[in-house]
Amino acid sequence: MKAARVQESGKIVIEEVPVPVLGETDVLIRVHRAGICGTDVGVLHGYIPAKLPVTLGHEFSGTIVKLGKPGLGGLREGSAVAASGGWGCGVCELCQKGLDPFCKKRVSLGRNTDGCMAEFVKVDYRVVYPLPSNVSLDEGQNLVNLACVVRGAQKISSFLGKTVAIFGPGNMGLLMLQLARMAGALQAVMVGTRDFRLELAKRFGANHVVNVRRENPVQRILEWYPGGVDIVAEATGIASSLPDCIEVLKGQGAVVSLGIFSGKIKDFDPSFLYYKEPTIYGSKGGHGAYGMALELLGEKKFEILPMITHRFPLEETAKGFKTFEDKVENALRILIQPVP
Ligand SMILES: [Zn+2]
Ligand SMILES: [Zn+2]
Repeated sequence: MKAARVQESGKIVIEEVPVPVLGETDVLIRVHRAGICGTDVGVLHGYIPAKLPVTLGHEFSGTIVKLGKPGLGGLREGSAVAASGGWGCGVCELCQKGLDPFCKKRVSLGRNTDGCMAEFVKVDYRVVYPLPSNVSLDEGQNLVNLACVVRGAQKISSFLGKTVAIFGPGNMGLLMLQLARMAGALQAVMVGTRDFRLELAKRFGANHVVNVRRENPVQRILEWYPGGVDIVAEATGIASSLPDCIEVLKGQGAVVSLGIFSGKIKDFDPSFLYYKEPTIYGSKGGHGAYGMALELLGEKKFEILPMITHRFPLEETAKGFKTFEDKVENALRILIQPVP
């Protein structure tokens, strides 16, 4: 089968590799849609740890081709499915306590095991989720990110009647915005760098948007909300955004950080811990939130399709990554499509 792989940092090659061999607990899935995520870009360039060579990708939808043994997990061959981007060993102390994301033996697609930018991917049956019959493969490809924003949002006690600022109108930030409005947020602000994405944010319910290329987000947000906002979601993955998140936060407000940060914060001043009494949540992956994410997808609560801007066949994976990395103005969710 063909796979988009990284042999050495910075370079994607399309290679012919064997179809994965299944163990008893594995499921072989034909990949239809694979989304490019910032984490994949980090793996490609070596600033997110990975075991090379590796097939890229961890967010996808597809159809089951083969089960490791008949009836495995109640799954059926031919079913349309999506899956989590990784899984814990299931037996260590952390996994036993439901802390799978922190399992020391965690398997992560596209990082320490071959990912989904290939014709087929092998996944543990425990993290394979059949899609509701009314959910398409185009919608299902975003299940991982939906679960991530649900997990992140669940850390905040309530959005009801609250003001929310979201930094980063990428795939994750725009899903978070939709979820915040759904959960009863009174007002929402989106902070970003591309007008195309900020326009989408308005469509998804943002009351205000700030383009940081033209305006200072802290100044603007504090003009609209002089006391600060109740909740900030950080979805840029850029470390220098965090001080701004704190700056616009109301006393006793909450920050939830959704991505993996790249870079460091210079002149970090922790005195805000005293002055603002903030609650700061990290949120790693979508563990425990897949059930609700599937229900929300089935209820058609999210606008997923308008976020898909580019599609590339597997052979053009490198072109897809370039479109992502070049920050092309109208690019948002970029899909690799091993099956057209
Ligand atoms: Zn991802
Ligand atoms: Zn474990």
